[in-house]
Amino acid sequence: MNRALFQKIIFAWFEKHGRVLPWRVKNHEDAQRMSGVRETLATYFTKAWRRDPYRVIVSELMLQQTQVDRVLPKFEHFIKRWPTVLDLSRAKLSEVMIEWQGLGYNRRARFLHEMAKRVVEKYNGVFPQTETELRTLPGIGEYTARAVLAFAYGQDIGVIDTNIKRIFARVELGVEANAIPISPKEFQSFIDFSVPKHHGDPWNQALMDFGALVCTAKSPKCDHCPAKTLCIAQRIAEEYRVKTYAEFLKTPHRNQQKKQSIPFEQTNRYFRGRIVDKLRESPIHMEELRMHMETNHGLSSRKKFGEIIESLVLDKLIYIRGSRASLD
Ligand code: SF4
Repeated sequence: MNRALFQKIIFAWFEKHGRVLPWRVKNHEDAQRMSGVRETLATYFTKAWRRDPYRVIVSELMLQQTQVDRVLPKFEHFIKRWPTVLDLSRAKLSEVMIEWQGLGYNRRARFLHEMAKRVVEKYNGVFPQTETELRTLPGIGEYTARAVLAFAYGQDIGVIDTNIKRIFARVELGVEANAIPISPKEFQSFIDFSVPKHHGDPWNQALMDFGALVCTAKSPKCDHCPAKTLCIAQRIAEEYRVKTYAEFLKTPHRNQQKKQSIPFEQTNRYFRGRIVDKLRESPIHMEELRMHMETNHGLSSRKKFGEIIESLVLDKLIYIRGSRASLD
């Protein structure tokens, strides 16, 4: 896929149609300054995207199992009552539990409260900036830690929520999210690779909105989708002479597609494994490696070979020096 074009399309769509959500305000001071002023998406693009990790975590924990519409008033109320992590650390757990009412899954309220105490006691009120440290905080798993790194610290990493997973599964692989034919690790590096440099935050926000409003789970708006020409799922639908992928999802063709799923020996995962196997024997010249993959494993596309090599290098599984590939 043409990544640069996909990024351009998604950002253009986001600037026009992205949602203005209270947790996208940079920090408490900005929120106060802008109180009563309608925030627009354009302002997000003109100021530093680094946001308060506390606001990111509160919103992410609230959104974990609850719809945006229900979270909106609760978030605003919660943040007004405890605007900083220090304020929350001083609250009583019972107060937080009461405030949480209506959001469900109360464990999240307890985690949030414990997390605030831990950040204040152990980190002097400043959130850590590594995934490993963030994940030691109560209630913070891989997804939330990565969300903090991208949204608050501006790191160029992909945040895989259900919307983003669905978009990439369809656009790049032509399947639904529950039929992704590569390993979660490969999928993660694939998503990380798609992030435009220095735009980790807006890129993930834009995709989340695109998945929530256009490439939705049950009724994607393929008819009006600006990424239609790049989408493999849409292309597959057209091959079956169905107008859009949205219609394709509802037809019996889809079951045919399921049966025709790619054999393992044609997946990137398989090819990656064979490349690493070959390098286990000894370092090798790149062209020799390509010919080995073509002759012995049927990988004839140079473009695909290049992409697989790139993903292995990104994952630090292989190294390229000059024209030779090796494992170290
Ligand atoms: S064409 Fe349809 S399936 Fe493809 S990205 Fe657009 S909305 Fe999603």
